[in-house]
Amino acid sequence: MEPQTILKEKFGYDTFRTGQQDVIDAVLAGDNVLAIMPTGGGKSLCYQIPALILSGVTLVVSPLISLMKDQVDALNENGIPATFINSSLDYQEINYRFQQAASGEVKLLYVSPERLDSNYFNGLAQLPIDLVAIDEAHCISQWGHDFRPSYLRVTEIIQQLPSQPTIIALTATATPKVAEDIMHLLNVDKEVKTDFARPNLSFKVVKDQDSDRFLLDYLKVNPDQSGIIYASTRKEVERVTKLLAKNDVAVTMYHAGLSPQQRRKNQEDFLYDRLPVMVATNAFGMGIDKSNVRFVIHDQVPGTLEAYYQEVGRAGRDGLPSDVILLFKLADIQIQHFYIEKSEMDDRNKHLEYLKLQEMQQYANTQQCLQQYILNYFGEKGPVCGNCSNCLDDREAQDVTIDAQKVLSCVKRMDQRFGKVLVAQVLTASKVKRVTQMHFDELSTYGLLKNQSQKAVSELIDFLTASGHLRAAGGEYPVLQLTSTGLAVLQGKSQVFRKMAVKAKQSLPVND
Ligand code: ADP
Repeated sequence: MEPQTILKEKFGYDTFRTGQQDVIDAVLAGDNVLAIMPTGGGKSLCYQIPALILSGVTLVVSPLISLMKDQVDALNENGIPATFINSSLDYQEINYRFQQAASGEVKLLYVSPERLDSNYFNGLAQLPIDLVAIDEAHCISQWGHDFRPSYLRVTEIIQQLPSQPTIIALTATATPKVAEDIMHLLNVDKEVKTDFARPNLSFKVVKDQDSDRFLLDYLKVNPDQSGIIYASTRKEVERVTKLLAKNDVAVTMYHAGLSPQQRRKNQEDFLYDRLPVMVATNAFGMGIDKSNVRFVIHDQVPGTLEAYYQEVGRAGRDGLPSDVILLFKLADIQIQHFYIEKSEMDDRNKHLEYLKLQEMQQYANTQQCLQQYILNYFGEKGPVCGNCSNCLDDREAQDVTIDAQKVLSCVKRMDQRFGKVLVAQVLTASKVKRVTQMHFDELSTYGLLKNQSQKAVSELIDFLTASGHLRAAGGEYPVLQLTSTGLAVLQGKSQVFRKMAVKAKQSLPVND
């Protein structure tokens, strides 16, 4: 049967979505392919349709054990023979399922990466596997935001399979670096990437506001709508849930500390709109297919832009206008620091995580179009969205070149070896010990911005970092360095404009 016919007859859809046909054609031609499509883009069909056309079995590696059964049930309901093996099954049952796959009774076999070990290898090696689909393929890359060591074994096992299957790797979040890594590790040389822009999402950053107040006001103005509120800790999830429930919001919650039964129940309450507002940690959402999510609000900032874009991608899958809002408070960055520090990653990976956290922070500080900023981060170009809080910010941009030069000059005078706090202290003529001990009070740039508060100068530094005039280099304690654009400003070759609530106090030009 033709892919188009299967699309119609088995899945009930008339046309392929962007990218699907390309991926399916490549797979059927025997090419290893990496499919990068946004959440909700329709990645599953890219291997499910070939699975029905190819003569053998398609092995689907998926980390979502909790959803495996649901996925398989949904396929079976559509008359597509699929099954799964995972740790919930006993030995006999697993053998039986292997037999079903061997006899052609089952076309899709789902397995978790943890199960792809030597115990199962003999069973797998007997099967006529002609396609391996690796879902959430970014988990294989140490550059990805969700690296899972168990994924590395997947490569080894696939290479040892006697049937030498075609490989299809799928992910919704891959920076160019992660994509390159996946392709290298899985021996893939074809990439199909669909447009990442989500024109129906209105991005918004809300800085330094009372989050509770914001949430309550937002829910009052947008009653009866379904949405997800993400927080970083279980404690915060419980606190926010309680707060909203007390204020008559029909709310439920999800985090890894709840029992599996409770999680399932809460998830269903949300999916079926019995309780349309979900407060959750990042444990919630992977694989969730709910079309009418009207908002995703981050009560606390996540650790990476990849995670952020994946989480907000759950809003507006039906194409209708939806809000995605980041409630940014500097203190929440500390929580992410804590997570990185206590994780079992080696120093190199911790360093990478700190860099990603800085990029997340820059998103909160940029005055560029937010949608465009994210697209650029994923290596894509795109027009300004016209719809985000930066595009809609109608404050007039002010010329802050002179203040910017003062900051840049100070960074340079301090040999580009120190961080934001110290630079701001020197510029505002602080007398703290560290400044005097290091003789920074003798620099010509000491006190150049003493008419401003240290907080205001810190924010200016954040702005200059987000706008690319400064670079925050290093991991846990980033040091400020000048970029070529920053240098151009210092040399008087270009200007800096910034939107601000009040006019900045500019003073005399600085010579450098
Ligand atoms: P992803 O894995 O990329 O997040 P899914 O494969 O779960 O996305 O697909 C998201 C939704 O889109 C599903 O409900 C799926 O049935 C639907 N879908 C996929 N392909 C098409 C298509 N060509 N036409 C209409 N709906 C589709």
